Amino acid sequence: MSIPAIIAIDGPAASGKSTLGQRLANALGYLYFDTGVMYRAVTWAALQRGVAIGDEKAITELAESLEIDVYPPSQNDGRAYDVLADGQDITWEIRRADVDANVSPVSAYAGVRKLLTAQQRRIGLRGKVVMVGRDIGTVVLPEADLKIYLDASVEERARRRYEELCQRGQPAEYQKILDAMRQRDQIDSTRQVAPLCAAPDAIIVDSDHVNADQILEKVRALVDQHTS
Ligand code: C5P
Repeated sequence: MSIPAIIAIDGPAASGKSTLGQRLANALGYLYFDTGVMYRAVTWAALQRGVAIGDEKAITELAESLEIDVYPPSQNDGRAYDVLADGQDITWEIRRADVDANVSPVSAYAGVRKLLTAQQRRIGLRGKVVMVGRDIGTVVLPEADLKIYLDASVEERARRRYEELCQRGQPAEYQKILDAMRQRDQIDSTRQVAPLCAAPDAIIVDSDHVNADQILEKVRALVDQHTS
């Protein structure tokens, strides 16, 4: 068998998908594509323009009109890529707490998902890609050659997010982060369209009690197994 051309990584917030996806893509010389940035970009634009998050029609229209681009990083400030919305660099803006708090309802809208899924699928089918999200192995690219579902307990994921924020010097309260993460998990996994769940043929990797190097090693072994 050859090296898997399409690798899907799904899992809940802060399970370590981005770190794994980025490092795996670098190691294989593949494109790393983090689909969460697209849902975040729509949410950011809605907040920016005062579009009510509960207004499905208006949010869907906004998603239709917004041009979202992802490019290799133009700055050496810790970013893995540039995210642009209608030409404006929003790479760090989409990580704001108000975007975190509103992205799950926005991504539950069928029209928004249909639009973004089609764009993601087009990029993924070009191959040599590590695509990261919630529904890559189930909906966006069910034909992916290798599917990983990266999981971790909600307490561990909240702890990681708390430490990330502290390191960036941003205000952080563990309990608030934990509550928000539970809420996001709940919306992401119970929504009607493309809920967060492992594909039947996904390999579940538990990231509790293991560090990023160990996870990468484990997944590289899975890639090698697939290749041999
Ligand atoms: O991965 P990240 O936390 O940046 O994703 C932000 C949000 O975008 C998730 O909580 C989820 O609601 C949504 N999302 C999604 N499908 C994807 C990627 C992200 O619904 N493929």
